[in-house]
Amino acid sequence: MQLRVPGPTPCPEEVLQAMTRQMINHRGKEFGELIHQLTDRLKVLFQTKNDVFILTSSGTGGMEAVVVNTLSPGDKILAICNGFFGERFAGIAEQFGAEVKRLSFEWGTPADPEEVRRALRGDSNIKAVLVTHNETSTGLTNDLASISAIAKEFDKLLLVDAISSLGSINLPVDAWQCDVVVTASQKGWMAPPGVAMVSVSQKAWQAQSQARMPRYYFDLAKAKSFLEKGQTPWTPAVSTFYALSTALELIEQEGLPNVFARHVRVATTAREGIKSLGLSLFPDEAFASNTVTAIKTPQGIDAKKLLQILREEYEVTLSGGQQKLEGKIFRIGHLGWVTEADIAEVITKLQVALPKAVG
Ligand SMILES: *Cc1c(COP(=O)(O)O)cnc(C)c1O
Repeated sequence: MQLRVPGPTPCPEEVLQAMTRQMINHRGKEFGELIHQLTDRLKVLFQTKNDVFILTSSGTGGMEAVVVNTLSPGDKILAICNGFFGERFAGIAEQFGAEVKRLSFEWGTPADPEEVRRALRGDSNIKAVLVTHNETSTGLTNDLASISAIAKEFDKLLLVDAISSLGSINLPVDAWQCDVVVTASQKGWMAPPGVAMVSVSQKAWQAQSQARMPRYYFDLAKAKSFLEKGQTPWTPAVSTFYALSTALELIEQEGLPNVFARHVRVATTAREGIKSLGLSLFPDEAFASNTVTAIKTPQGIDAKKLLQILREEYEVTLSGGQQKLEGKIFRIGHLGWVTEADIAEVITKLQVALPKAVG
């Protein structure tokens, strides 16, 4: 089965093998060495000198950690929303009592940096900007470099969901002055689900010391003090740590720039293939993501039936649309362990499955 959903993604055999290792004491020396080396290597891949933490949770837990460690109830924040995950980020902040001002763009269109500037100019009480780098739900990558430059022009805290981009699409965390950035093991990292990874800048630590949102499990100050002794506050997903270590070796061997370049080539194969079948991309093509391709369901085709046929007859698993895009689009995940040949095969199978999915 070719699993081509935007997470969880397939894991190379050696990554799966790493997970079969026996457990170790998470308060012992061996685990201390593991977490220290993983953290140091992640900093290189995040392109940052900031602190990096490995939290045992899915990506959404990491998003919650970002919010509750930097904000207080009543804080005004600007949440850039142009898809399902931007809405989730805004929703978490709202749930913990932030006063969320949404800057919404139609799903499939990019966030306009000039609109961000206008919003920040219009309200000096805004404390932080929340943004989704790669909107997995619409297959679109926002122009984070421009958005970050504007957020910094106004000296705002910049909180970034890079769950489906970091490690696959270039995101130089320090160069783009991102204060908190979150990603998750099961996306481009070629590892199983289980951990979120979060980087925290000096400015974010200052915010952390003032932030009054309730937090316990995701308290990053606790994570920092435990990391100093080579531990996590709570029992970590030890097997996922093993797997991540092996997966990072593969990324390091390939070289980060080569990993980014491969994602560009694979995404180009996907987009060109889709167009060659006469199908249309859902997002604005100039902003089409290099980790997930969203395709408009063509007239007369039943998307659910198409995905079922692909799965049952052609051994390819793709994703549907989320929420208001259900039935309207379908998506090919191409992040992590994926080659151009894999995606060429998906396109070939899609071509034969399409005529069978008339609905
Ligand atoms: C997958 C994803 C999430 C959610 O991550 P979970 O691990 O499912 O909690 C959030 N944001 C983006 C952009 C994602 O791609």
